[in-house]
Amino acid sequence: MNILIINAGSSSIKYQLIDTNAEEVIARGLVERIGISGSDLKHIPSVKEPLIINKDIENHEEAIKLVLEYLVHPKYGVINDLKQINAVGHRVVHGGEKFSSSVIITEDVMKAIEDCIPLAPLHNPPNILGIRACQKVMPGVPMVAVFDTAFHQTMPKHAFLYGLPYEDYTELRIRRYGFHGTSHYYISRRLAHLIGKPVDKLKIITCHLGNGSSITAVKYGKSIDTSMGMTPLEGLIMGTRCGDIDPGVIKVLMDKRDLDAQQMNDYLNKKCGVLGLSQISSDFRDLEAAAEAGNEHAALVRETYCYRIKKYIGAYAAAMDGVDAIAFGGGIGENDPGIRAISLRDMNYLGIRIDQKANDTYGKEIRISAPDSKVEVWCIPTNEELTIAKETRALVE
Ligand code: ADP
Repeated sequence: MNILIINAGSSSIKYQLIDTNAEEVIARGLVERIGISGSDLKHIPSVKEPLIINKDIENHEEAIKLVLEYLVHPKYGVINDLKQINAVGHRVVHGGEKFSSSVIITEDVMKAIEDCIPLAPLHNPPNILGIRACQKVMPGVPMVAVFDTAFHQTMPKHAFLYGLPYEDYTELRIRRYGFHGTSHYYISRRLAHLIGKPVDKLKIITCHLGNGSSITAVKYGKSIDTSMGMTPLEGLIMGTRCGDIDPGVIKVLMDKRDLDAQQMNDYLNKKCGVLGLSQISSDFRDLEAAAEAGNEHAALVRETYCYRIKKYIGAYAAAMDGVDAIAFGGGIGENDPGIRAISLRDMNYLGIRIDQKANDTYGKEIRISAPDSKVEVWCIPTNEELTIAKETRALVE
């Protein structure tokens, strides 16, 4: 079965066409600057030459039409006919409390996704645009929504409530929802498979470290706690997001930096984290280069980033009464051995021992703990698209 995966942002659409029988990506690509001048399509077929089309693309519908045109293109295409696309799986960021699993998209589902806009004002509207565009351009093709929040709906109330008046939860739906659910689900299942034990017998901590980063406690297969909150701002220090801070800091910053609420929100989302702390870049590769050139501050940023990871691992080991295995995924988790090593340094109380040689690898599925480590530690490149494709296939079948 061929499934088209769509991840729609406000001015971009990422796509993959996946053959779920072979579990292979047939083509992938990215449309950028939709509705902005200088838009383009980067189309990468797996067994043909990639190409870039520079062309004004007014809206999401035009973008989807262009993607489909190149999927069946005589020279750059990968299928003969659009009928060979059996279903579309859409990544949707926020499903609120309504969705604890993926669903076939109906008008009722669309209303429920619209209902969640106040919870994810930056993400759900473009996700909706992506779905509407596909519905229009590909009528009759089944569409499935896969939510970033769904995997975390198993969290118990004591884990998802904040210390706020209870009516803030009941009336305003303010609570921890968590994100990156598709990635945490994939990594936890893959880890159990690699260890050779059923996921429902394991206490796992999954670390998704990318531009956005989050950690999840997966107890016996279910998410019981996760570091992101009502929004993806809480938890770890991220590329440009602050993660956990004292809420009292917000008033001080608004006063001293003369920021209104919207500016404050932008500040915490875009100017903080690794970028703000380092004043160099949000990308650890740039910090590494700076450190090599003698910038001592860059090393402090790494330590600070890793210390937060260490604290969450400790907290989740406590929450689960132990931990059997830890896995690292995401751009940083997969490619930065130093971040993994520093985060797990001095964890003798858990019996964690890293095999430094095994850890010195990039983007590979590999066990990085030593044979005598009490906790198995793995690096597992995440695969959200394959998970979305499998969920979509299961539902349309
Ligand atoms: P997103 O959250 O946007 O999906 P990714 O998971 O792709 O992001 O992670 C992107 C980040 O991964 C980059 O900002 C960079 O910090 C980090 N990264 C990617 N490759 C490397 C590498 N080789 N070494 C260190 N960090 C890397």
